[in-house]
Amino acid sequence: MSKYVYFFGAGKAEGSAEMKELLGGKGANLAEMASIGLPVPAGFTISTEVCTYFNAHDRTYPSTLAAEVDAAIKRTEKLMGRTFGDPKDPLLVSGRSGARASMPGMMETVLNIGLTTKTLPGLIARTNNERFAWDCYRRLITMYSDVVMEKGAGISPPEGQGIRQQLDRLLENLKKKQGYEFDYQLTAADLQQLTDAYKTRIKEVLGEAFPDDPMEQLWGSIGAVFASWDGKRAVSYRRIEGIPDDWGTAVNVQTMVYGNMGENSATGVGFTRNPATGDDAFFGEWLPNAQGEDVVAGTRTPNPLNEASRNEGNTLPSLEKLTPQLYKELAGYRDTLEEHYTDMQDLEFTIEEKKLYMLQTRTGKRNGIAALRMAVEMVHDGLIDKATAIQRVKPSQLDELLHPMVDPELERTHQPLAKGLPAGPGGAVGKIVLTPDRAEAQAKDGEKVILVRTETSPEDVHGMHAAEAILTSRGGMTSHAALVARGWGKCCIVGCSALEIDMDRGEVRVDGTVLHEGDVITLNGTKGLVYQGELPLISTDPAKNVNLKTFLEWCDEVRTLGVRANADSPEDAEQARHLGAEGIGLTRTEHMFFEPERIKFVRQMILADNPEQRREAIMKLLPFQKDDFRGILLAMEGLPVTIRLLDPPLHEFVPHEEAQQVGLAKEMERSPEEIRARVEALHEFNPMLGHRGCRLGISYPEITEMQARAILEAAAELVKEGKDARPEIMVPLVGHFKELVHQRKIIEQVYEEVRQSIGEIPHLTIGTMIEVPRGAITADEIAEVADFFSFGTNDLTQMGCGFSRDDSGSFLPHYVESGIYPEDPFQSIDATGIGELVKIAVEKGRRVKPKLKLGVCGEHGGDPDSVHFFHKVGLDYVSCSPFRVPVARLAAAQVVLEEGEAS
Ligand code: PEP
Ligand code: MG
Repeated sequence: MSKYVYFFGAGKAEGSAEMKELLGGKGANLAEMASIGLPVPAGFTISTEVCTYFNAHDRTYPSTLAAEVDAAIKRTEKLMGRTFGDPKDPLLVSGRSGARASMPGMMETVLNIGLTTKTLPGLIARTNNERFAWDCYRRLITMYSDVVMEKGAGISPPEGQGIRQQLDRLLENLKKKQGYEFDYQLTAADLQQLTDAYKTRIKEVLGEAFPDDPMEQLWGSIGAVFASWDGKRAVSYRRIEGIPDDWGTAVNVQTMVYGNMGENSATGVGFTRNPATGDDAFFGEWLPNAQGEDVVAGTRTPNPLNEASRNEGNTLPSLEKLTPQLYKELAGYRDTLEEHYTDMQDLEFTIEEKKLYMLQTRTGKRNGIAALRMAVEMVHDGLIDKATAIQRVKPSQLDELLHPMVDPELERTHQPLAKGLPAGPGGAVGKIVLTPDRAEAQAKDGEKVILVRTETSPEDVHGMHAAEAILTSRGGMTSHAALVARGWGKCCIVGCSALEIDMDRGEVRVDGTVLHEGDVITLNGTKGLVYQGELPLISTDPAKNVNLKTFLEWCDEVRTLGVRANADSPEDAEQARHLGAEGIGLTRTEHMFFEPERIKFVRQMILADNPEQRREAIMKLLPFQKDDFRGILLAMEGLPVTIRLLDPPLHEFVPHEEAQQVGLAKEMERSPEEIRARVEALHEFNPMLGHRGCRLGISYPEITEMQARAILEAAAELVKEGKDARPEIMVPLVGHFKELVHQRKIIEQVYEEVRQSIGEIPHLTIGTMIEVPRGAITADEIAEVADFFSFGTNDLTQMGCGFSRDDSGSFLPHYVESGIYPEDPFQSIDATGIGELVKIAVEKGRRVKPKLKLGVCGEHGGDPDSVHFFHKVGLDYVSCSPFRVPVARLAAAQVVLEEGEAS
């Protein structure tokens, strides 16, 4: 026969912390606390299986349940020395929900169950407090009529007409009539009169009388809590949090204890360590003569639990000072709980007439700083091992340590103006600027600015660099703005389609709000939220965080996947190395083309009429590129540096505005018409599928030749100087092996010349990106001529899913909301589709060359779920923007530990 009811109390429990599926989080922990000897008011948990049964069987119960509940009540009565329904000294209970995962405030609770016209005198006699007893009764009637008789019965009254609101109005009217300002001024006689009025109103509105039978109240409450699992609030919360509908909630029936019985009673909440700093000190708040809701509601300023928890300016007495004996007992339970659970606990307690009761414990929520500090210190204290510590910190929590953040407390009280895609994490505050030139100029004057654009192009980078953050109305997670901002660790929101940018009027309109250039906004790039005005930021310096260093070293001991960075300059490379990168997985050489003294030659190269002219212009770029590569190779000495040959379509480098075209014509001694005609000729309908990647190097071999020479000469010279330079030349956008054969031949030819003139480069390799679906499918052919593959999952997603990287921001969020894709496939690898292409390429490539080096350099390399995937398919490394390197190190360690647990 199935068991549905689990008793707890007085050092004994039928359940345990391991039974969360059956007893819910709250019930399982109450059982655990009771069995380790903590003073838990006795009671019992009705399992989640009953919830599932109840909702599937037309709100009926398994036939054996009633007998089990009766027996559990008898046990509770015996332990507490009171009887349910006893007119002299009644046992009163609460009925609370408790699912496997915490769903705060989403389901229902009924307190003071068992108070009736017959038992009320008993409570008055026991407490010698008439007002208190009538107040309990009033609260029961309010909750019961709302939760059980209205919501539980499926009645949804018009706005403002709910029974709770109607009863609240009766209360307000009485207070007004009596000339009271606060609830506590109501006398016992007032409350008695009020409960009569409540009952009459309930009968009128709901057509039924408030039940005067304890058992009826109990079963009504149990049913309503189970029914609240399917309530509107709970259902929509489950959708958002991804909690399955079939989990169900448990119901906890527990003896009531009162923190509001007078000055010798109190209630409070505590954390076994500080959840904001991670400090190993008991932290919490309490309120004398109050109920749990009063602490949560925030209407009264709570007292500090101890002197360590005291906020500046709070002079209220601490429990530690006021009642040292009780505090000592509580602090002892704090130690017991933390030792027992080996994690920070969030606990609730009540003191009834100087007797302490523990009401709840659960794993406490914490921010990134606290999570990291606790994980490291608990290992030092011998409480947990390193593997547990690694699993305790979420990758997103590491992000909090690497970027300034919008103060979460304040953010909670503000309504965002708009929402876009979270392209670059962290927070930023600044004045709106609509052009990159103005952004640069104002930043030079010391202003903090946020560059707001429809979308960005490589021509905007100076303004993007100068700005605190970038906000665009179009574009997806791998659009230009997103890639560039992420590379710099800069806050960025893209695809914020509610923005209407009016360049002529210098305005940004969002729904009804009009913002002007110069107005201050705040961005939360981690969530993609835009706020009007300034919200304060909080930040920490990762370099000074000793815990971070220790923690990431532990991750490195565990992980098998390599972590490299995408970096385009010596500074970024150094930053990346500092954050733990084991090489560069992608240098996008085109990012070097935009500096003012170079772009001229780039344009001359593009607009050249014949190969000679082109070669002449290109050769002017050679010294610049050589210098760049030398710097990067040096910054990464001893580690591999993958340098990719030119990739983007050439039209990205030429000016499209007339004034600039005229200027360029002058510079190049050509007519403006000629320039315009050349620019127009470069126009493509689908530039992302057009003349780009290795196709450029095939049409214009001199580009490949120049870039290869710049890389190889820089490396050979360094080697000659005794430095350990390890270049890896990477050919982009290869879909057919013959493309790579073509490019490789040029590179090898240049190498032969460099080898003879300067010397050998012992660690040189030549490989390709796999980013065109055909390339993935024919990876065996390509592997014959490649020393390595690096998956360009941005383009692979673009071409594999057929979603434009630059335009999908307009519809992809809707796809995700509708559940068509679980997540933006540009952000987290689409394992079943694009991931399958990766798998095919891995398998085919390694079949030909078992030791073929495999990496990924698309944006997915810094996404924790994608890192898990790449580990599982057997890649050698991931490469991501420098600020994602710590996140990738953690994710790569966590997947190893997960696999260990699963095996
Ligand atoms: C890619 O396509 O994944 C990639 C890394 O290259 P890019 O983003 O520069 O096209
Ligand atoms: Mg690409």
